Amino acid sequence: MSNPSAASSTLTESAPQTAHGYAAMSAKAPLVPFTFERRALRPKDVAIDIQFCGICHSDIHQARDEWGASIFPMVPGHEIAGVVTAVGDEVTKYKVGDRVGVGCLVDSDRSCPQCQRDHEQYCARSVATYNALGFDGQPTMGGYSDHIVVDEHFVLRIPDSIPLDRAAPLLCAGITLYSPLRHWNAGPGTKVAIVGLGGLGHMGVKLAHAMGAKVTVLSHSLSKKSDGLAMGADEFYATSDPETFKKLAGSFDLIINTVSANIDWNAYLSLLKVEGHMVVVGAPEKPVPLSAFSLIGGRRSLAGSMIGGIRETQEMLDFCAEHGVVPEIEITPMEKVNEAWERVMKSDVRYRFVIDMATL
Ligand code: NAP
Ligand code: ZN
Repeated sequence: MSNPSAASSTLTESAPQTAHGYAAMSAKAPLVPFTFERRALRPKDVAIDIQFCGICHSDIHQARDEWGASIFPMVPGHEIAGVVTAVGDEVTKYKVGDRVGVGCLVDSDRSCPQCQRDHEQYCARSVATYNALGFDGQPTMGGYSDHIVVDEHFVLRIPDSIPLDRAAPLLCAGITLYSPLRHWNAGPGTKVAIVGLGGLGHMGVKLAHAMGAKVTVLSHSLSKKSDGLAMGADEFYATSDPETFKKLAGSFDLIINTVSANIDWNAYLSLLKVEGHMVVVGAPEKPVPLSAFSLIGGRRSLAGSMIGGIRETQEMLDFCAEHGVVPEIEITPMEKVNEAWERVMKSDVRYRFVIDMATL
């Protein structure tokens, strides 16, 4: 990895730089070492020495082509934390040595109504950090690598009180739960259920608790109960127990479903109060059947939510710093990434793997 202090502070013209990382060369193939070129720095670009990258279940879905249209070779990773090593000469937000992050987005058209309201994630032309084509037609490559070059607009400032390894998962798991909790007004007096205590779910518990909501975890077993309560949950139930659905019928203002596999949404909708909302953030590969009666009886709604915009992601990072909210992480060396993925698939991670890029 490069030494930030040795890098020049501004660079308009620079040659493309060779990057080292791990890639999936085809669907379902294990990740292997991979060398590729990062673009030369443009005037508004920031070059970042990646120190840590979280492992999101979306990395696995995409590398295994579970959502379709995957681009290979694919360097996954959109929970990136590192240090600025160089900036283009029109960059105003960052300087060499700053602690920064990059999440799921690296570009958008900046002019559509969604971009104008700081909802870049819903821009029809937004560019994902990997498994996408940039406006230059080149495939984007993610954070399972030693460095990245990103327009400053899509770079986040990591507050000093959050260590870089713990900051990484906030860039996707954190914002993906923060945004719907805010949008649907989680706070004092509201009852929130988080379905699935994985990478996203455990951030949901911590964030909803910090916002002042009463939080219940709905997990497939009770094996994570003590952890969930320690994270700030008020209650914890196993969804494998049919009594759970009887006992909690009509209980929640807001349910956020983070599960990466198909579950019976109808059963969960019955747990909402009248006019409650269930928000889907988990993205399983197959459609889920839905009964109209699950919604119409209680004027309930079913919604979806995708990550968050850049302004809101910065707001989330600052909220986490203010409230001491950080993920529970397990550091893994790069060469064990395939084993880490297998453990994510088995729901055997407490609660987010983070790759230490110094091991690359
Ligand atoms: P994760 O760490 O693997 O957590 C998923 C959790 O779902 C597991 O810990 C487990 O929780 C539960 N689960 C898994 N398989 C299950 C099954 N067969 N039946 C019931 N429960 C099961 O994954 P993640 O990284 O948090 O991501 C979760 C999902 O969100 C993925 O589909 C991912 O692609 C998606 N995602 C969406 C967005 C967005 O913007 N909307 C952003 C990032 C990720 P328990 O053990 O507690 O039951
Ligand atoms: Zn993610």
